[in-house]
Amino acid sequence: AAQAGCIIRDVMNKGNLGIVEKENAYDLQTEADRAAQRCIISSLSKHFPKITIIGEEEDTGVGTIVDVSKDNFVDVTCPSQFTELKEDELVMTLDFVDPVLSISSFECQRSGHQGVCKNLSIQCSSLLEHVTVLIGIAVNGKAIGGVIHQPYYNCEASANDFGRTVWGVVGDKVGGMSVQHPPSSGCIVTTTRSHSSATVNDAVNALTPDQVMRVGGAGHKVMLLLEGQAHAYVFASPGCKKWDTCGPQAVLESAGGCLTDIQGKPIPYDSTAPHRNKIRSLATRLKDALTSITKTP
Ligand code: AMP
Ligand code: MG
Repeated sequence: AAQAGCIIRDVMNKGNLGIVEKENAYDLQTEADRAAQRCIISSLSKHFPKITIIGEEEDTGVGTIVDVSKDNFVDVTCPSQFTELKEDELVMTLDFVDPVLSISSFECQRSGHQGVCKNLSIQCSSLLEHVTVLIGIAVNGKAIGGVIHQPYYNCEASANDFGRTVWGVVGDKVGGMSVQHPPSSGCIVTTTRSHSSATVNDAVNALTPDQVMRVGGAGHKVMLLLEGQAHAYVFASPGCKKWDTCGPQAVLESAGGCLTDIQGKPIPYDSTAPHRNKIRSLATRLKDALTSITKTP
């Protein structure tokens, strides 16, 4: 994830983004996404050839191979229920949110994509913190492990010391950050910045929030929950895919929170499950809050 983050920064610095439209004009892919995915898939396939990998970007070819040696392993204790897992039981999901993808459709249209990107550091510097590399690990349809890498975290405060990687294994703990509680009173909701609709806004308003934080990417929104900046993440629209939610969900659950569909039911992550999450999603770090949210009409 960290190497993929370096690749994204490199491509963004060079500015030659090779933007391609996917489902529509607001669903874009850039060379940063493709190169980052090439790196992770090539590295994982070399070391773990039997795992199923589901990446957001379509077939992107061979990329830089990262040597997965013991030195690179993070401090994770494998919970006993996972120690006997076989490689071919694992499904890994990959997602990349770069600054171009986190700008709003209005900004996107007005600036004609490339215009924004060329001047990204000036026009959209705060959006750089929305950039994430997400890796999810699922077994038997359940999210069990995840990585959220933020290549530009803290970049506005420090020119030398920025970027961070946060990970979690369900049943172990979150690494790479210190998880914080949200304020004990009030209701801060985070939701989509660039895929809003009347339904999304109605769902957010149903919680009568004191504050709404509109930011890009499922990983960034889950980070706001883990940092205690928001109480709930509401996305009442079926746009998120498996790769958007699998990794963040595992990290959140390893911190004691949960991410479900809007009725409180689990989101399936089997290799055969449809990529698009059928029902809208909802997340919070406090399970009691989730119960009361799912009861909200
Ligand atoms: P957002 O909360 O709007 O940043 O969306 C989180 C992720 O869900 C994005 O990175 C997209 O991959 C995906 N997504 C959400 N809504 C849509 C949509 N309407 N079309 C395409 N992708 C979407
Ligand atoms: Mg995505």
